[in-house]
Amino acid sequence: MSGYDFGVSWCAEAMQEEISMSDPIRIFIVEDERRIARFLQIELEHEGFETDIEEDGNRAFERLMQESYDLILLDVMLPGMDGLTICKRVREVSDVPIIMLTAKDEIEDKVSGLDCGADDYMTKPFAMQELLARIRNAMRRRTTTDHLPIDEKLQINDLVMYPARYEVQVGTEPVQLTRKEFSLLEFMLRNKRRVLSRDQILQQVWGYDYSGDTNVVDVYIRYLRAKIDERFNKKYIYTVRGVGYAVKD
Ligand code: CA
Repeated sequence: MSGYDFGVSWCAEAMQEEISMSDPIRIFIVEDERRIARFLQIELEHEGFETDIEEDGNRAFERLMQESYDLILLDVMLPGMDGLTICKRVREVSDVPIIMLTAKDEIEDKVSGLDCGADDYMTKPFAMQELLARIRNAMRRRTTTDHLPIDEKLQINDLVMYPARYEVQVGTEPVQLTRKEFSLLEFMLRNKRRVLSRDQILQQVWGYDYSGDTNVVDVYIRYLRAKIDERFNKKYIYTVRGVGYAVKD
C-alpha cells in the first residue's frame, strides 16, 4: 500500500450536512485491481460513504444503468468496456459526478478523461486525502441539481429559491441568476440569519482551492443586491461591517 495515505481528517458526515442530504452518499468503485478497489472501499466506508465495487467494465455499465449512485470512481483500463467509453455513455443519460482513476503511464488519458465528461481525474497511486478533497469538490459542483429533493424550498419572506429546479423568485416575479450568483444565494439561504465571513463564502461557493482574493465575494454580493434588493426595493442581503454578510428578514 505504499503511496497511499491513511491520514484522513475529513469525513462524509460534514459533506452530508453541506449538501443537505439525509441518505448516505453512495459511491460506485469501478476498478479491476482488487487491492486498490478494496483499499478504496475500506477507506470510503470508514468515512461514512456506502460503496459498491465492480471490476468488469460491461457489468459496471449495466449496473450504472440500473442503480443510482452519487459519485463514480472509474478506472480507465478495465476488462470489457473501458472507463472512457463508460464515462461517455453514462454522460448521455446522467450528470452524476465521475472521477477517473488513471495509471501513471496513462497520463495522456487525463485529457481524454475530461473530454469524456468526467469531473476530475486522479493518477494512481494517490493520497486518500486528496481523493476525498476531490470527491467533495465534485459533489459540491452538483449540489444545485442532482442531489436535492425536487420540491425543496429555501425562503426568506418573499424571496424563494427552489435549488433543484434552479429557480429563484421574489413574490411571483422570477429572478435570473448566473450559476455563481445562484450558488452564493443558495449558500446564504441555507445559512439564513447567520453572518458568513468572506472566507467561509469563498470556501463554500468558490471551492476549497480557490486562491483569488476575497473581493470576488463583494463583487458577487453587489450583483445579487442589484438583481434582488434594488430591483424589488427590499432588503434581504445585509453587510455586517468587519465580519461579512448575512441574508435575513
Ligand atoms: Ca485497471
